[in-house]
Amino acid sequence: MAELLQVIRGMHDILPADMPVWNQLEDEYRALVESYGYRQIRTPIVEKTALFARSIGAVTDIVEKEMYSFEDRNGDSLSLRPENTASVVRAGLQAGMLSEQQHRLWYSGPMFRHERPQKGRYRQFHQFGAETFGIAGADIEAELILIAARFWKRLGLTDIDLQINSLGSNECRQRFRSILVEYFRDHYDALDEDSRRRLETNPLRILDSKNPEMQDLIEAAPALQDSLDQESRDHFDELTDILDKTGVSYEVNQRLVRGLDYYCHTVFEWVTETLGAQGTVCGGGRYDGLVEQLGGKPNYAAGFSMGCERLVSMLIDQDRAQAETGCDVYLSMRGANSVAVAQRLAENLRDHLPRLELVVHAGGGSFKSQMRKADKSGARIALILGESEIEADTVAVKFLREERPQEEIPQADLVTKMTSLLGNNQRT
Ligand code: ATP
Ligand code: MG
Repeated sequence: MAELLQVIRGMHDILPADMPVWNQLEDEYRALVESYGYRQIRTPIVEKTALFARSIGAVTDIVEKEMYSFEDRNGDSLSLRPENTASVVRAGLQAGMLSEQQHRLWYSGPMFRHERPQKGRYRQFHQFGAETFGIAGADIEAELILIAARFWKRLGLTDIDLQINSLGSNECRQRFRSILVEYFRDHYDALDEDSRRRLETNPLRILDSKNPEMQDLIEAAPALQDSLDQESRDHFDELTDILDKTGVSYEVNQRLVRGLDYYCHTVFEWVTETLGAQGTVCGGGRYDGLVEQLGGKPNYAAGFSMGCERLVSMLIDQDRAQAETGCDVYLSMRGANSVAVAQRLAENLRDHLPRLELVVHAGGGSFKSQMRKADKSGARIALILGESEIEADTVAVKFLREERPQEEIPQADLVTKMTSLLGNNQRT
């Protein structure tokens, strides 16, 4: 028999069993971004190598060691795209789209990076992205963050946290760069080989180093925030103000610089602890300057991209957890007498809805930990009996898998309510 040929290391087949999750993800993403007015764009998978060298930066990991580059039959150097932002800018410029108007665009597709394969890190992987052009303010950065936040909500993914930072204007970045170079020069002996090289070419990237031995030095480095001018501060304040008012929680991470060279002002990452080392599921920010760098008139730009494999992996873990304990309703309670009331309501529900899969929380614990259990249980609905509900003979109905406001109903109406909500949806 002939030898079996294997798939290329770091690349994966997506077999029928996993396709439903991929399709769900893609359908949700498309519907979501289009509802915000983003229009789809598709660019070729292969581009001239020069496009990526000029945009991403010749001294980034991506261009230095991760690109699949090869010579075309006519001698041109071509590369499989490692990311899609540069291609979108190139396409926009070529089509004459990026001169005046505003644009909101989205894409999805495979990217290629010759990295060391491990869980969550592959040589062919997929990204969803969004790019906006012609919009200068923090409002569009906030919009991009809100889109991602809503995406996690729609997917039912609760363990993803937002980190943000400001790199400031180009002038601030230059100023910070010299301060940083001075600092790292003073600690030259403690730098690893990569960092020594970057010291000359791209010192900000040293802050991005994943080398554990470098972390103390990086921790003690001068903070970028101290180099921000008033305008950059105002820009960042406007962003945090919108996030505060729209209820998006975030952490300012002074060390967040992102790997790519073309960012300024806002940078952000969405990170989860559930995936191990490869925990960043989405990264983005502002990249004014790139359009000009690629030969266009100067233009504002901001966007993000997210890693589909990492999201798929989270969705599969979530499905598995739900399959293990799956139930329809999780009843949580808190405060004196609440357990007895909860049990009485639950028994009454079981009388009327014999097929209902209802888990009544046991073992106490904070409200937050009860809600986490409710989420892990796979339940569609959490019923909540807090002190105020007990007092008022009501129960709160919280929808865990859909965007729908929480309701407060009289305990006496619970059976009717559950029948109408779960009537056709009860598991058999
Ligand atoms: P990382 O720090 O994980 O290397 P990155 O900064 O190189 O990420 P970006 O270029 O910002 O990543 O790409 C956006 C997203 O694409 C990442 O947050 C991640 O979810 C995903 N991603 C990047 N590289 C890979 C890869 N080799 N395999 C799978 N997903 C990836
Ligand atoms: Mg990387």
